[in-house]
Amino acid sequence: MVGISGGGASADVVVVGYGAAGVSAALEARSRGADVLALDRFNGGGATRMSGGIIYAGGGTWVQRAAGLDDTSDAMFAYLHAEIGDAVRQDTLRRFVDSSPEMIDWLTGHGVPFEASVCPYKTSYPNNKYYLYYSGSENSGRFRALTPPVQRGHRAKGPGASGKQIYQPLAASAAGHGVRLQLHTRALSLLTNSDGAVVGVRAATLAEAPAWVRHLYRTFAALAVKPGIYYEPLRTAMEHQLARLERRYARTVDIHARKAVILSAGGYIANADWIAEHAPAYRDGLALGTTGDDGSGIRLATDIGAAVDRLDNVSAWRFITPPSAFLGALVVNAHGQRIIDETRYGAALGYAMIEEHGGKGWILADNRLLKQARGDLARQAIWFQRLQMEAMLRTDSFRGDTLEDVAAKAGVDPVGLRETVTAHNDAAAAGTPDPMGKPAEFVRPVGEGPFNLIAISVKRSEINPTPMFTLGGLVVDEDTGAVKSASGQPITGLYAAGRTAVGICANSYVSGLSLADCVFSGRRAAEHAAQQTRTAS
Ligand SMILES: Cc1cc2nc3c(=O)[nH]c(=O)nc-3n(C[C@H](O)[C@H](O)[C@H](O)COP(=O)(O)OP(=O)(O)OC[C@H]3O[C@@H](n4cnc5c(N)ncnc54)[C@H](O)[C@@H]3O)c2cc1C
Repeated sequence: MVGISGGGASADVVVVGYGAAGVSAALEARSRGADVLALDRFNGGGATRMSGGIIYAGGGTWVQRAAGLDDTSDAMFAYLHAEIGDAVRQDTLRRFVDSSPEMIDWLTGHGVPFEASVCPYKTSYPNNKYYLYYSGSENSGRFRALTPPVQRGHRAKGPGASGKQIYQPLAASAAGHGVRLQLHTRALSLLTNSDGAVVGVRAATLAEAPAWVRHLYRTFAALAVKPGIYYEPLRTAMEHQLARLERRYARTVDIHARKAVILSAGGYIANADWIAEHAPAYRDGLALGTTGDDGSGIRLATDIGAAVDRLDNVSAWRFITPPSAFLGALVVNAHGQRIIDETRYGAALGYAMIEEHGGKGWILADNRLLKQARGDLARQAIWFQRLQMEAMLRTDSFRGDTLEDVAAKAGVDPVGLRETVTAHNDAAAAGTPDPMGKPAEFVRPVGEGPFNLIAISVKRSEINPTPMFTLGGLVVDEDTGAVKSASGQPITGLYAAGRTAVGICANSYVSGLSLADCVFSGRRAAEHAAQQTRTAS
C-alpha cells in the first residue's frame, strides 16, 4: 500500500477501481509517463479476478496463428457487428477489432499466459486442457451464414476459473512499473473546480487504520467475493462487517488529480434498487460480480451531470454445455415450443428466455442423449461445472416414460411439446433446415423415452442460479473514453472504462467480450487522460 496520509495525495492520473479496466488504464497511463495512483475499495481485482479469464480476441493473434487458425479482422468484425449491433459506432468496433492481435501481445508482454490449445468440441467454457475455443455464437446458424466460424475465446492459462491469471500478472507488472495502489479506499465523490473540470476524488480510506483492522477488512472482503458470490447470506454478513470497520476506522481524504480521473469501478449488478428500477425482469439472478458492483462509479459521475445509457441491459447466463451433447437437445418454453438455436451462446439463451418466454425454459433430452451427456460431462467439465450440472440433473429435472408424462410433471404444455417434437423429427428426417437456424451437424431427432425435462428457468436458487451482470453505464466519447455530460459534451478531466461505461458489450455479451472491452477501454481512457494538459486548481 502507498500512504495517502496527511492532507491526502496527488497524482497525474487517479484510477478509481482496480479490476481489468483499472489495471489496464494504470499500466497504459504509466507507460505514457504519467504518475498514477490507483484506488480500490476492497482488495483489488474486482470481478476480473474471479472471472473465467476469457478474452475475446482475433484477427490473427499470435495464439491463433500458433494454433494454425486462420482469422482475419474482417471476419471478426463481421461476426461482432452482427452480435453487438449498435453498442458502439462501426469505426469504434473496427478499432477494437484491428487492435485485437496487439491487445494479446500487450497482455502477453505484461505476463498474462495464453496457450494455443484448441478445444475440439463446442462448450461454454473449456476444461483445463484447452485455452482457445469458440466462446461466442460463431458457429451458430445465424452467424455462420455471415462469416466462417473461428475460435476467438482466449482463456488465460491456469486451472479453474482463470481470471486471476489476468489480474495478477497485470497488477504485478503495474507495481513493477511504478503504479501506486491504495487498497481499502472507497471513492465517495469527485472534486471539481469552478469550471466544472474534475480535479480529484474524495475518498474514505483505511490506509492509516491499525494493521489488524486492515487485515480483518482484507479477510472479510475476500470472503465476500468468494465464496460470498455463491452464498448470499455470507456475502451480506461480510458486507455488514466491512461497513462496520469502515464506519469506525476510515478517514476521509481528498486526492488531487493533476491531469484526470479514470472511473473503472465495475457495474451495478449488486445494486438491487437500480436493478428493480432499470431491469426488473433480472431481479432473481445471481449477482455476477463483487459488492463493489453497486454502481458507485457511475453515480460519482452522474452526481456531476454525466449521462448514462443502456442501464436496462443485463447479461443473463444460461449455459447448457458442457456437456456438448446438449447442443443436440431442444430447449423449450412453458408451451413446449423451442426458444432458440440451442448452439447459441448461453447469454443469448438467457436473454431470449427472460425477454420472450417469461424466464422459463427446459432442456428436453431423451434417454440416449442424457446418457451421452453424462459421458461428456465426465470428460469435458471442470469440477464446478460438473457439480452444477449434476445438481441440476438431480434436483431440477423431471422424467417421464412419454413426452406427455414428463411435460405434465414439469409444468410444460404436453400438446405443445408433442407438436414441437413431431415437427422437429419430421424436419430432421426430411433434411430441411432447422427452423431456429441450428446447423445441421447439431440437429438430432428426439428418440425413445424415458424423456427428461431439465429446468433452466430463472429463479432464486443456490443450486441452479442464473448468473447476471450489467452492461450499461456512463456515456463516453468513443474516441477518447472521456465521460460525456447530459448535453453531450466531454467532462474535462473525467474518463471511464470497463463496466462503468458503455462499451463494446453494452448490448450483447459473449464470453470474453467484457474483459476484452475492459482492456481496450481502459487503455483508451489512459492514453487520453495522460495527455490531458489541464492543471488542477
Ligand atoms: C464468475 C465470473 C466469470 C466471468 N467470466 C468472464 C470471462 O471469462 N470473460 C469476460 O469477458 N467476462 C467475464 N466475466 C465478467 C467480467 O469479469 C466483468 O465484466 C469484468 O471483470 C469487469 O471488469 P471491470 O474492470 O469493469 O470491473 P471489476 O473487475 O469488477 O473492478 C472494479 C473494481 O472497482 C472497485 N470499486 C468499486 N467501487 C469503488 C469505489 N467507489 N471506490 C474505489 N473502488 C471501487 C471494486 O472493488 C473492484 O475491485 C465474469 C464475471 C464473473 C463474476
